[in-house]
Amino acid sequence: MRKTKFLIIGQGLAGTLLATELWKQNADFLVLDNPSPEAASQVAGGAFIPIVFRTLKKAEMIDDYLPALKNTYGFFENLTGSRFFHLVPSLKLFPKDDIPKWQQAKDSAAGTFITDLKESLNLPGIKPEFGGAVIEPSGWVDIKMLTALMGEWFLENNLLIQEKLDYSMIEFEKDGVVINSSIRAEKIIFCEGASAIKNPWFKNAGFSLNKGEIIDIEASGISDEYILRSEVFVLPLGKKTFRVGATYDRNNIDNNPSPAGKQQLLQKLQYFLDTPVSVRSHWAGIRPSVKDRKPLLGAHPEMLRLNIFNGLGSKGVLFAPYWAAKMAAFLLHGEALPDMVNVNRYFKS
Ligand SMILES: Cc1cc2nc3c(=O)[nH]c(=O)nc-3n(C[C@H](O)[C@H](O)[C@H](O)COP(=O)(O)OP(=O)(O)OC[C@H]3O[C@@H](n4cnc5c(N)ncnc54)[C@H](O)[C@@H]3O)c2cc1C
Repeated sequence: MRKTKFLIIGQGLAGTLLATELWKQNADFLVLDNPSPEAASQVAGGAFIPIVFRTLKKAEMIDDYLPALKNTYGFFENLTGSRFFHLVPSLKLFPKDDIPKWQQAKDSAAGTFITDLKESLNLPGIKPEFGGAVIEPSGWVDIKMLTALMGEWFLENNLLIQEKLDYSMIEFEKDGVVINSSIRAEKIIFCEGASAIKNPWFKNAGFSLNKGEIIDIEASGISDEYILRSEVFVLPLGKKTFRVGATYDRNNIDNNPSPAGKQQLLQKLQYFLDTPVSVRSHWAGIRPSVKDRKPLLGAHPEMLRLNIFNGLGSKGVLFAPYWAAKMAAFLLHGEALPDMVNVNRYFKS
């Protein structure tokens, strides 16, 4: 029987970052993951931005999130010797009439992240009627690459078992929890992403899943100086290829790329592009979103050996580094979690 203090279920972005926080503090842990090419971390765009475009305000807690983000992804790049954290300025496109609104934002607290306002752009591939705001820092993380490399690293260090957890194979004993009659853990931390809606203990923790679709395109007429942003993001991947995402669909919760999703992405591109594009690939996945759009951290109110780190929604790249460290501090040192992220909020009657 393999014994461990913390058993993490799932090695997507959440499980990977939490496991690494535990490893940094020499904690005893094991990860159990059923690798799935459809998991959110395998299909995500991975983009992050410090401003909320709807309100033109700083994103909530961004001053906490950004240092954690830079440290964490920088740490992973050093550990693996690979590059998957790309700092690229974003160019938010807007009709020229919106300049006063953006000038106001530049003069507000959000202005620290608006490094330039351009009334006209003169950028290849963009319709002349658009102006733009340059936003920094911004960029994207290749989450698929990060989780693949860290999966190899966990395997090499005997810290990962690639197997599916069957909930009916969990036995609760006085001094721990036994899984598949082969692993005994003091605590389980569920990091299952959208699959958590099947978890008998946490399925009612406020999940409100939402499907996203993404396309990769080839377009020789677009500059790769910026991540272009309008209603979609356009991430430059090099060699004149770009990743375009993403749709939001709360009604069709499945992993199937749809003709309607592709059409929607192309229409949103045509709104500001005046150059042809050809679609190279198209895929879909499910975001582990929560009703109040806040992460889910902490212990089950009655089954204290069962914990969760989930609810990263559409902002996993930004949320995960900061909250993985808080979750580790909760598990290792009993540090209290803020009410706004504590999973308890969904167990109160
Ligand atoms: C189309 C799309 C676009 C996105 N774009 C962005 C973006 O631009 N920026 C951004 O920040 N975020 C984006 N996201 C969100 C981001 O992908 C998620 O927030 C994040 O990846 C969630 O990570 P996770 O580890 O919680 O879940 P997951 O990535 O789903 O990982 C869960 C893991 O647990 C495993 N698992 C589940 N159940 C079990 C079980 N019973 N036994 C063993 N293993 C199990 C799964 O197989 C998987 O490996 C996007 C998501 C989608 C779908």
